[in-house]
Amino acid sequence: MTAIPGIAPLATSARAAATWQLAVHGGAGVVERGSLTLEMDAAYRASLNQALEAGARVLRGGGTSLDAVVAAVRVLEDDPLFNAGRGAGFTAEGRNELDASIMDGSTRKAGAVAGVTRTKNPVSLARAVMEKSAHVMLGGAGADAFSLQQGLEQVDPGYFRTEERWRHFLQWRDQRAVVPDRTHAYGTVGAVALDQAGHLAAATSTGGLTGKRWGRVGDSPIIGAGTYAEDKICAVSATGTGEFFIRSSAARQLRDRIAWHRESVQVAANNTIKDIGDLGGEGALVALDARGRVAFAMNSPGMYRGSVGASTAARSAIYADEK
Ligand code: ASP
Repeated sequence: MTAIPGIAPLATSARAAATWQLAVHGGAGVVERGSLTLEMDAAYRASLNQALEAGARVLRGGGTSLDAVVAAVRVLEDDPLFNAGRGAGFTAEGRNELDASIMDGSTRKAGAVAGVTRTKNPVSLARAVMEKSAHVMLGGAGADAFSLQQGLEQVDPGYFRTEERWRHFLQWRDQRAVVPDRTHAYGTVGAVALDQAGHLAAATSTGGLTGKRWGRVGDSPIIGAGTYAEDKICAVSATGTGEFFIRSSAARQLRDRIAWHRESVQVAANNTIKDIGDLGGEGALVALDARGRVAFAMNSPGMYRGSVGASTAARSAIYADEK
């Protein structure tokens, strides 16, 4: 490129601009073209875009990746379309027990909650565990009590219930349909972000698998399984059959593939999902590397997902073949 005196070449000024990136997911399933009505397709995309915008607002303004992932996940928790917060799946006893986690890549501090029943936004409770307690993970009644003590917004457990999810529960109970809705078998939500200071963060929130029992805890609140973030390497959030993501240390495996095997973030994401598939698991994940490159990987044909960055407009996608 020939430089014109006094005018910086475009490429240079673009390089100098601070970079930031955000990617979100709203679960995965067998979503082939035509399996969603036009209205449902549009509703999912609108919600994903709203989550992207909430996080992007933080990052664009120079805010932290931690604030951005919380902002994005809260939007998806509040939306009844997704199996997190309002719209959570039901346990075998017909209750909602929510799991969430968060990790700060700059300090590798983390917080998580499992089986909470009254906190409107479990991701904020996970953050409170990280920032206001000496622990990483709290479960059940203790986590509910900590939430109250921290002054987080409480709701009646009926708040989480939606008719759609209740119908899935009845299907599960009456027909033993393990996955009552294939188009949205996994409705966990998550976000990964890189802020202008170069810090990474990840967060994940879920109602867990429909029909879970005995206090079952999935991968979403487990650091290294459903969530992981470490500056200079990557941030990861997963969705799918949690047991397999736990057994394969999915999020940490992805991180190790990048750090130890020098795999690119996309190759590491693909290989991690392949490992889960080899075990018999199903699902998807989103990962973001230290340079802001986003990788989505899935072995279920469809994932509710989206990304936005300093130099790329917000884009959401659902079907496996969408770019
Ligand atoms: N991974 C979640 C769990 O096993 C479920 C999901 O992704 O929807 O609890």
